[in-house]
Amino acid sequence: MVVLLLSSKMGKRKVLLVFAILIALNIFSWNFFFFLQNEELRVVFFDVGQGDAIFIRTPQNHYILIDGGPGEVVLEGLGREMPFFYNSIDLVILTHPHDDHVSGLLEVLDRYNVKNVLCSGVSGSASVAQRWEETIRERGYRQARAGQRIKANEFYIDILYPAESFAGETVDDLNKVSVISRFVFKEEYSFLFTGDAYAGQEKEVLSYREKCEEEERAWCDVFSLESDVLKVGHHGSKTSTSEEFLDVVSPKVAVVMAGKDNRYGHPHREVLERLENYKVEIMRTDRDGDVIFEL
Ligand SMILES: [Zn+2]
Repeated sequence: MVVLLLSSKMGKRKVLLVFAILIALNIFSWNFFFFLQNEELRVVFFDVGQGDAIFIRTPQNHYILIDGGPGEVVLEGLGREMPFFYNSIDLVILTHPHDDHVSGLLEVLDRYNVKNVLCSGVSGSASVAQRWEETIRERGYRQARAGQRIKANEFYIDILYPAESFAGETVDDLNKVSVISRFVFKEEYSFLFTGDAYAGQEKEVLSYREKCEEEERAWCDVFSLESDVLKVGHHGSKTSTSEEFLDVVSPKVAVVMAGKDNRYGHPHREVLERLENYKVEIMRTDRDGDVIFEL
């Protein structure tokens, strides 16, 4: 497990990384600690094996989950991160309904009081995707579309992709309709979540800001990409994380979410070298376990 502390005293551009091993805490002291620490933002990239599941808790106790990973392993992570007597999650975002992103969310929807679900609404052929579709049709969801901003007191989440509606549609590759979102806390710290988007989608997202500015619209900052932390696209596959994307995102830290010794060879050496060339600190769930940012 790796904890990264982003020091607010160091200013926006400077990020201080501190590595520490968390001491095992029993459930009661953990919950006590939880309430004492209500001044901090916590962003946890759960080690769920080959898949994505990212948990955000804000100082005002907003709980957000982006993807749920494969199987039920996300429940263990939520059990560690949430007080045992509290079972509400304010927002669940699904990037796309592939098993390694959606399976755990089905369990989460079953066991937690999830107030809002945001996803593209795209249809998938696998049984797990169909179960997801049925579930959200019954309970209702909000369709993610580029240009949306979800705002609370201390933070906002911008939706950067997709621009078109895919609700109820089938597509040749679900990765291509991954919801891309950017979480910004106190206008100071930003995290970019890319699901399994390819370089093609990265290119499209880059074009939105340009188009918006050409049209002289007032709200183009909703398409900003520059971020302190980048969740590397598609588990570090070489089909994502292009140089032109890195040029604009300009991350300090990149988080690769991949399973230990996975059969896809993720993350790809080319992507790791690219990140190194850009002098980006690389964190990996396959090596480091949960990657935790405390602010
Ligand atoms: Zn995936």
